[in-house]
Amino acid sequence: MQKENLIIIGSGPAGLTAALYAARANLDPLLIAGSQIGGQIAITNEVENFPGFDSILGPELTDKMRAQAERFGTRFEFDEVLEVDFRNGPPFYLKTYGQEYQANAVIVATGASARRLGIPGEGEHIGRGVSYCATCDGFFFKDKDVLVVGGGDSALQEGLFLTKYASRVRIVHRRDSLRAGELLVARAEANSKIEFVWDTVLESIDGEAKVTGVTARNVHTGAVEQWPTDGIFVFIGHFPNTQLFRGQLAMDEQEFLIVDKFMQTSVPGVFAAGEVMDPIYKQAISSAGHGCQAAISVERYLEALHDHKLPGKSVAAAG
Ligand SMILES: Cc1cc2nc3c(=O)[nH]c(=O)nc-3n(C[C@H](O)[C@H](O)[C@H](O)COP(=O)(O)OP(=O)(O)OC[C@H]3O[C@@H](n4cnc5c(N)ncnc54)[C@H](O)[C@@H]3O)c2cc1C
Repeated sequence: MQKENLIIIGSGPAGLTAALYAARANLDPLLIAGSQIGGQIAITNEVENFPGFDSILGPELTDKMRAQAERFGTRFEFDEVLEVDFRNGPPFYLKTYGQEYQANAVIVATGASARRLGIPGEGEHIGRGVSYCATCDGFFFKDKDVLVVGGGDSALQEGLFLTKYASRVRIVHRRDSLRAGELLVARAEANSKIEFVWDTVLESIDGEAKVTGVTARNVHTGAVEQWPTDGIFVFIGHFPNTQLFRGQLAMDEQEFLIVDKFMQTSVPGVFAAGEVMDPIYKQAISSAGHGCQAAISVERYLEALHDHKLPGKSVAAAG
């Protein structure tokens, strides 16, 4: 059993920022990165709203954050947490593929994963024409026809990115207006490769070895049509990665972790940051901000623990 002071679960903006602050506070953090190193922002093409950068590629932003956290002493483990026991801590128990750990404090920064459409043909065509990441897969659709499903910022941002490769990008939205920011809407409307298909949902994704088309339905008229296409990119939101913590940490009805104003979960000593506890803002900068808050709270918590104050005390009482 490897004993640790602080374990941070997740290497997105929340986890990496928590690591930076914790390392600078000499908390000797170990960060367990998970399968998506850098989190969602690492699969984002261009980020134009992270303060300090006019524009930066998602993977580059991730590399910078990681290097900064590492420079102050964060240790990285490229593994995934499979099991936790937060009921009998501190110390808290965590298990990965390669190791078992005990930690005095934990920051959960497991973020969120892309929601699927849940329609016939989707699962079997992932990687064969169905994708949730334009940055990862856009290149494979050079001069091809693609559909983007969704009507928010991500759908437009990634749809615009796909116009670099695809010959036509149809944005299919179940409503008749977008939820995206004005700047993105204006850019998408001005792009000659982009077309909007309103009030429409996909019923199935069709094809044998790879996607050859979709079946679509107009939500008002009920009319069903089949359209040939080469690829479908889905951006219809995310769900929090909290399955591991069911029955151990309090969650809301959508399974986001519930935290207090010190980012502490229902278990004292276990903190949460980023999209795993944020159903509202869902930005790299807000997630990074939560990571900062959680690390500062952990510092206060660990000081109290060290001073033999009751581990069950809240951070507010300990500080
Ligand atoms: C297509 C797209 C475009 C976007 N564009 C922008 C943008 O322009 N500007 C902006 O501010 N935001 C943007 N966002 C949102 C931004 O990426 C997220 O808000 C941010 O990444 C959330 O950070 P996070 O650290 O909370 O979680 P995530 O980024 O989701 O990171 C979660 C981390 O947890 C790890 N993890 C999960 N489970 C485990 C486990 N069991 N064990 C170990 N590790 C685990 C994952 O591997 C990952 O490293 C975009 C998102 C998408 C999908």
